Amino acid sequence: MIEISHLTKSYGGVTAVNDVSFTVRPGIVTGFLGPNGAGKSTTMRILMGLENASSGHATVMGKPIQEHSSPLTTVGALLDARSLNPARKARQSLLALADTHGIPSSRVDEVLALTGLSGVADKRSGGFSLGMGQRLGIASALLGDPQVLVFDEPVNGLDPEGVTWVRHLCRNLASEGRTVLISSHLMSEMAQTADRIVVIGRGHVLADATVDEFIDHV
Ligand code: ADP
Ligand code: ADP
Repeated sequence: MIEISHLTKSYGGVTAVNDVSFTVRPGIVTGFLGPNGAGKSTTMRILMGLENASSGHATVMGKPIQEHSSPLTTVGALLDARSLNPARKARQSLLALADTHGIPSSRVDEVLALTGLSGVADKRSGGFSLGMGQRLGIASALLGDPQVLVFDEPVNGLDPEGVTWVRHLCRNLASEGRTVLISSHLMSEMAQTADRIVVIGRGHVLADATVDEFIDHV
């Protein structure tokens, strides 16, 4: 469960997120829809503990993310694969992450298999395509077996097969009772992946409804 209450984040004169409130429930996929610059990444970075809010607050499983003893095992975030060392092999990067966060190293081969990367585990991630990089980012998100998954634009750069794979993965994670928040700038993508959609524009929540409710109103 994620609860966001009156969250505001400003950068100098720019208010990226403006009084945003919504709840992300477990067991369903919640889509976070909005055009570029709407405030999706900023909101998600706050949920990952990468940034502090200017005001308001966000809790994950009832506590601010900073108060969880091990954030990576609480929120699995899609790390931008470019934030990983490109000279490192995919397996090495995941082993290092597992080591830092006290996750058993046996989990690395599990997430490599789950993301279809077993065959390239010993290749340097710098040579990966955009799609393979996204899979590696998702592998890092799954590493800590978290109850909450926050995926910022996970299908960017994926081929149609990869898009379908992400959709199934999100549905599986939700059906296991996990909390899944996934962003996109495409309504068509969200309509196929999410059960509920929160629409954000210019930092404000514009709508928050089930996909069926959206379709009934079009
Ligand atoms: P989205 O993910 O929906 O594309 P963002 O959260 O990335 O939107 O950005 C929302 C707004 O905040 C944009 O106007 C963006 O330029 C601005 N912004 C985001 N991050 C920063 C930052 N670190 N410094 C200054 N402005 C930022
Ligand atoms: P399947 O449809 O074969 O169950 P899943 O993608 O749900 O495929 O995952 C396979 C296994 O990996 C399941 O046992 C599931 O519990 C586990 N798993 C899936 N996602 C995660 C995750 N984020 N963290 C930990 N384990 C996961």
